[in-house]
Parts: sequence; structure tokens; C-alpha cells
Amino acid sequence: MRRKLAAGNWKMNGNGASLAEIETLARDHAEGGTDLVICPPATLISRAAAVAGPIDIGGQDCHMAASGAHTGDISASQLRDAGATAVILGHSERREAHEEDSAMIREKARAAHAEDLTTIICVGESLAQRDAQNTLDIIGAQLSLSVPDTATGHNTVIAYEPIWAIGTGKVPSMNEIGQVHDFIRSNLERRFGSGVGRSVRLLYGGSVKPGNAAEIFSVSNVDGALVGGASLKAADFSPIVAALDATT
Ligand code: PEP
Repeated sequence: MRRKLAAGNWKMNGNGASLAEIETLARDHAEGGTDLVICPPATLISRAAAVAGPIDIGGQDCHMAASGAHTGDISASQLRDAGATAVILGHSERREAHEEDSAMIREKARAAHAEDLTTIICVGESLAQRDAQNTLDIIGAQLSLSVPDTATGHNTVIAYEPIWAIGTGKVPSMNEIGQVHDFIRSNLERRFGSGVGRSVRLLYGGSVKPGNAAEIFSVSNVDGALVGGASLKAADFSPIVAALDATT
């Protein structure tokens, strides 16, 4: 049985005062059946890890190299050293703004796995790709190129994030989410065998809110959510976690 996972991506939001949100989550969800990971900006990782209790803390990216002349970048071992146990890779905002392609994301994931970080690897189609009925082809290509052979159920989580649903308030239909998640599951089973393929957790991401979480979590092969805006405040994130708890 896969454990449920609620992951929060704070993006470039938050400062020292925001750590109170993590303290609240840690207090309110100390005993739920859902795993939690919060990915704050890099500046907050070590302070967040110090107050997070049962919550895992993650980075939002890492470099593929272990060290060296990469101004502004952070390596997987530095994330680990700061207290992170996870990292988001291949978020569409990084694919777009930093021109990251799937081959780079695979190398980053390898580097993260070598440091025993759990990689949350993001895949997702644009609206134009969905309208052209290319969604499954795009997701299939992103999966085969972005997910390294080192993937296991322990170190890899896949987040399906339709680009057009991120921060827009738009959400695919439950059938559309189910179709993509079932596709990802069979793709992983075919490539890694049923043991690993069935143990990798699949998150849906894109405008998950307290009001739509329960319906999304009822879809087959949705093991949790990657949440942006609604993860910034414990008051918004907690009901999403509670909706996941209710499915266990
Ligand atoms: C995200 O950026 O990963 C995300 C899902 O954002 P939001 O929940 O705000 O749509």
C-alpha cells in the first residue's frame, strides 16, 4: 500500500516569519496517515528543518554536479547538508524559465538519488499540447527521458502537473486526471517492473484547493498532491492534508 503524500511548493515565497506555518502543520499533523513535505525557498531550508518535526523539508531544484563553478546553484549534497530529504525537479516553471530539458532533469535526479534525496519529478502538458490531443505522448516522452534508471518507490515520486492548471484555478476533469495517472502507472510498471512501478507515488498538481481536494483524491492512482499557492498557509494546506488522511 502506497502512503499518501502532500507536498507543498512555496516557490519564491516566504521568509523567516513563514516558519510559523510549518510549526503549525507539524503540530496539527503529527499523527496523520499522510506524509508531508514542504519545499520552501533555499534560504529557509535549514531553519525549516529545525522546526519541521515529522514533516520532510525539500528543495525546489538542485544542480546535477556535486560541486564546482556554478554560481547561484545548489548541489544535492548541500540540500542534504542543510536538512532537506527531498527535492522537486523539472517543475514547469524551471523547464520554461531556466530552459531545463528532460535530459538535464534526469541527471539532476541521479545526483539527488546519490544523496538519498526523494525526487519529486514533474511532468505535464501545455494547453496547446492538450488541445492537439498530444497529452499522453508528451507525458510518455517526459517520463522516459526525465526519470533515471536509479528510480525506486523510495526515492521517486512523479507529479503530474498540467501547465495550464498551475496557479490558474483551472483543473482537468477527474476523467482526464485519471487517464493520465493510469497511463503514468502503466508506463512505470512496463519500464521498472510491477514491484517498483506500483510503489512510486503519483501526485496531481495544479490549483489543488481545500474545496476540490477530496474529489481529486478519489481518482484512481492519485496518491496525493503537489500544491503551490494553497501550501503557503497552514490554514489552507491543513484541509488538503485532512482530505488525504480521509482516504487512508
Ligand atoms: C505548482 O506550482 O506546483 C502548483 C501546483 O501550483 P498551484 O497549486 O498554485 O496551482
